[in-house]
Amino acid sequence: MIRAVLLDMDGTITEPYIDWKGLRDEIGVPEGVPIMEYINGLPEGRREEALRALEAWEEEAARNAPLAEGAGELLKELRTMGVRTALVTNSSRICVEIVLERLRFRPDAVLSREDGRIKPAPDLVKKAVAALGARPEETLMVGDGIYDLEAARAAGVRFLLLRRLGYRLEHELSVGSLSEVLRLIIISEK
Ligand SMILES: [Mg+2]
Repeated sequence: MIRAVLLDMDGTITEPYIDWKGLRDEIGVPEGVPIMEYINGLPEGRREEALRALEAWEEEAARNAPLAEGAGELLKELRTMGVRTALVTNSSRICVEIVLERLRFRPDAVLSREDGRIKPAPDLVKKAVAALGARPEETLMVGDGIYDLEAARAAGVRFLLLRRLGYRLEHELSVGSLSEVLRLIIISEK
């Protein structure tokens, strides 16, 4: 029984938009190093500069990335079904607010990078589960990236992959669009 659904934001609630290669090149993040890990390791001054650059990319995406097909409908339908929802993102609170404003929906909980160690660490996922009063085994995390998968796994939460063009990630449970998520949840209850 699924009682709670956690959703990633960038590339899940919104269509993939950020040119991650361009962003990494601008900040100078070496290949294979997570962006925030690199930024946090920079000396003071350079760290703030890199963070501002990252925030500019993120805010631009928050304002302009098309909302994913079926995102609003899914969230509203889950609420009607009594399934609690949370947004779990490595992005900032500011960007979350921009996207939620556009979406015209407020999930029951919102966890952003200000709230703890970011994905792939399980912290934000665990906090979301706790905030929703759910148990990990009754919770489904929906995301498009490897960090979502790893964070969900480490938190003991089931994971559903939203397949995105050009991502080579594979997972036994996956959908091609958010419109399919509801059907999958309903089927799993039977
Ligand atoms: Mg994502």
